[in-house]
This record gives sequence, structure tokens and C-alpha cells, in this order.
Amino acid sequence: MSHTLKVGMLGGTFDPVHLGHLRSAVEVREALGLDWLHMIPAPQPPLRDTPQVPPEQRLELLKKGIADTPGIIADGRELRREGPSYSVDTLAELRTEYGEDVPLAMIIGFDAFLRLTKWRKADDIFTLAHLVVIARPGYQTPWPLALKELVGNREVDSVAALMRRPCGSMLSLTLPSMMAISATYVRERLKSGESVRYLLPEAVEQSILQQGFYQTHE
Ligand code: ATP
Repeated sequence: MSHTLKVGMLGGTFDPVHLGHLRSAVEVREALGLDWLHMIPAPQPPLRDTPQVPPEQRLELLKKGIADTPGIIADGRELRREGPSYSVDTLAELRTEYGEDVPLAMIIGFDAFLRLTKWRKADDIFTLAHLVVIARPGYQTPWPLALKELVGNREVDSVAALMRRPCGSMLSLTLPSMMAISATYVRERLKSGESVRYLLPEAVEQSILQQGFYQTHE
């Protein structure tokens, strides 16, 4: 029996990448049975302030963090694109590369999900991919009305139901190791000279400390 590939995309600012991202990536890959999970840093996320560390360095940290983790790719494609990076354009690229039949999932944390209606061409996401929303400690707000309308009746309750089609459904997932780590917390600790040990992979911590990232006192 031939195996149909299954692919996921986890975009983010990764300013910097931390174990909340990386453990979620491993667990979501397992939960969905993905062959490949592309972790894709945004050079200039449209809805956020300019990240503290330039995109090339954030990509380098991401590569160090992923290291030899099977099935997870540090994907720098958005750095090679002109202008702001929109997830819908990235999904369109992945769809072209993998073909029409491959289940493709855009994975986002619940905090990002709450802002989804502000994303460019949010409606088009479902024509290109599934949406998989990961629970995040500290975020249990009810869905705003606009979000309920955007998702409509696309919600499914199992991975099997999601993978029956290449795109168009939404699944909420609670992964085994919910980690209450955020990049904001990591940056704050670095800025005040506090330890970030075990919040990030050791190689990422070392590289950040060596290069002095996030440690300047304004
Ligand atoms: P910041 O604190 O700067 O907002 P962040 O830690 O939320 O950053 P992002 O790069 O913005 O990191 O996150 C990329 C994606 O990963 C988003 O969809 C976000 O919801 C998700 N994510 C981040 N941290 C976690 C975590 N600890 N558990 C699950 N998902 C997470």
C-alpha cells in the first residue's frame, strides 16, 4: 500500500526558539503522524513589533535547536521572500511543492488562534490546509464570534477525520507536555540576567549568551 505523505507547518517569530516550541513540534508530529514538520521563522511578522534579533540569526538558533530531530525541518523560505511574510503565501508554496492530495496542516498555539481573524486572507487558509490548534497553558478564553464564524462547521474531533482530506478542517489538540514557556518570558529573563537553563536547548542558550542577544539593558 502506498503511503500518502502528511505535512505540517509551524510558523512563528521564534524570538528565540524555546522548548515550548520544540517539544510541541515533536508531539504534534507524533499526534498527527506527520512525515515532515516545517518550522518557519517569519522575518517581519505583520502583526507584531520588529523582533529583537534579525531573521538570519533567529533561523540559526532554530537550526541549532532542532539539530538532528527526525522529521522536523528548519525552513528559511520566508527569509528569501520580499516584503512581509504571510502564512497564506507560505501554505500556497508548500501546497504547490507537495501536490494537491497531501494532507497539509497549519499548526498554531491557542494564543495565535485567537488572533487568526486578523491574518491576511484568513478564509483562504482552509482552501490550502487544515488548521490544528494546540492548547497553551494560560489561554482558555472562549472563542470570539468572528472566530466561530471563520471556523464554521469545519471542526473535527479526531486525527483520522482530519487526515481523510488534504485541507479544510480544524482540530484542537491538547499535547501531553503542555509547557508554560514563552519567548517573552525567555527574553525578560535574559534581559535581567536571570538563568534560562532548561527553557531552551543548551546549544541555543550557549549561542544566545555568546552573541549577547536579548541581554542589552536599555
Ligand atoms: P512571544 O512570547 O514572543 O509572543 P511565543 O513564545 O508565543 O513568543 P512564537 O514564535 O510567537 O512564540 O510562537 C510560534 C507558534 O508557537 C505560535 O503558534 C504559538 O502559539 C506557538 N507556541 C509558542 N510557545 C508555545 C508553547 N509553550 N506551547 C505550545 N505552543 C506554543
